Amino acid sequence: MDGSIDGSIVLFGPPGAGKGTQAGRIVKLTGKPAVSTGDILRAAVVAGTDLGMSAKGFMDVGELVPDEVIIGLIAERLEADDAVRGVLFDGYPRTIAQAESLENVAKVSNVISIEVPDDEIVERIVGRRMDPETGDIYHIKFKPASNKIQSRLIQRKDDNESTVRNRLAAYHVQTAPLADWYDERGLLSRVDGTRSIADVGNDIASKLST
Ligand code: ADP
Ligand code: ADP
Repeated sequence: MDGSIDGSIVLFGPPGAGKGTQAGRIVKLTGKPAVSTGDILRAAVVAGTDLGMSAKGFMDVGELVPDEVIIGLIAERLEADDAVRGVLFDGYPRTIAQAESLENVAKVSNVISIEVPDDEIVERIVGRRMDPETGDIYHIKFKPASNKIQSRLIQRKDDNESTVRNRLAAYHVQTAPLADWYDERGLLSRVDGTRSIADVGNDIASKLST
């Protein structure tokens, strides 16, 4: 069933593929707001809400938060005024059940799959740093921050080697099958995510304009 909101875009890929990094550029290009389930869940954990309390244990060990929690969170987010012309989903859907439930509320027009092999993912995740003031994403080697910003950068609690192995396992078992699911529906574009941030961004922009 087609949903009530038209024209949403899904950024798909393993943890550390570069979804958050590319989201800002796509937001500027399309005018659609980014909806990151990871960001919403982290904000809920910090605020200590019921949502945060039920999600924290799963996030800390790198397991997916249960579908019913995520589906409720998305339904609420899509009620906001800025979602009427579609949104840019980052890190959602992550299971076939989430994708099926999304069909009831929003119509996806494009799925961009950013492809990066596992051996590059671990280095990306372990070296990732976040700017708590702006939300900007850095990397100690691939995207270093200026001296001024560097001192305030933080590392996510789940960005460690043992958790990332669990997140990759969850990705391969629960999330990766969604690529074929969207491909069968004619919506999937694959992008080689191992190139520079700028090259990956150019490729995504060209796929969205065709
Ligand atoms: P995701 O949102 O898919 O988990 P991020 O956008 O947070 O991924 O990127 C993960 C890490 O990899 C960050 O530290 C980011 O700076 C870095 N990164 C993103 N894109 C690239 C790229 N094309 N080449 C090298 N490093 C990248
Ligand atoms: P990354 O892209 O680096 O894996 P996210 O910020 O997207 O990180 O997600 C962090 C954690 O939040 C995940 O490991 C998982 O526990 C939870 N999470 C985020 N989005 C979803 C989702 N759509 N379904 C289930 N769990 C999710």
